[in-house]
Amino acid sequence: MYQVVFILGGNLGDRVRLLEASAGMLVSHFGPLVLNSSIFETEAWGGKSSGNYLNQVLVFNTTFLPEEILDIILEIELKMGRKREEKWGDRTMDIDILYLGNKIFNSERLTIPHPYIQDRRFVLEPLTEILPDQLHPVLNKTNKELLKICPDKSSVKHFKK
Ligand code: ATP
Ligand code: CA
Ligand code: CA
Repeated sequence: MYQVVFILGGNLGDRVRLLEASAGMLVSHFGPLVLNSSIFETEAWGGKSSGNYLNQVLVFNTTFLPEEILDIILEIELKMGRKREEKWGDRTMDIDILYLGNKIFNSERLTIPHPYIQDRRFVLEPLTEILPDQLHPVLNKTNKELLKICPDKSSVKHFKK
């Protein structure tokens, strides 16, 4: 059994409803939620993007294999109306796997831990809220330490519904 840590985010449509619906679909595949961060509102990162993102980190326990988990989240993104357009463009829902316990996994389709955790304040803020002392198995630093040295200074704020 491993803890799988997801980040969910979107900047199109009814953003809160889409987070809630995606969380519900994750629960239906993975069982009860173990931990959830607050919802954060974030300036769009990279690419050309119009609206601000809402982001949330969710944690489940699972025995699924890495690529099985990927297939589930890609299916949920499609159900949430995700269209594959330009890289880092606007989207209704993006779900990424941040960590799978302390596993390191690399294939053509999947890299775990997610390669940009350390570069993105919108990932590290919610992650540090719920898992401050979890160790990044490649960088050998905790989420809290990664946040402290994160070069990304974009605005990430608690979102009030
Ligand atoms: P970024 O990776 O910079 O966050 P993105 O999330 O916008 O970009 P997508 O278009 O959503 O990129 O995903 C492209 C592909 O990335 C997915 O189809 C998947 O095969 C691959 N991928 C690699 N590692 C991961 C991971 N840890 N979590 C989710 N997808 C991953
Ligand atoms: Ca992403
Ligand atoms: Ca993605």
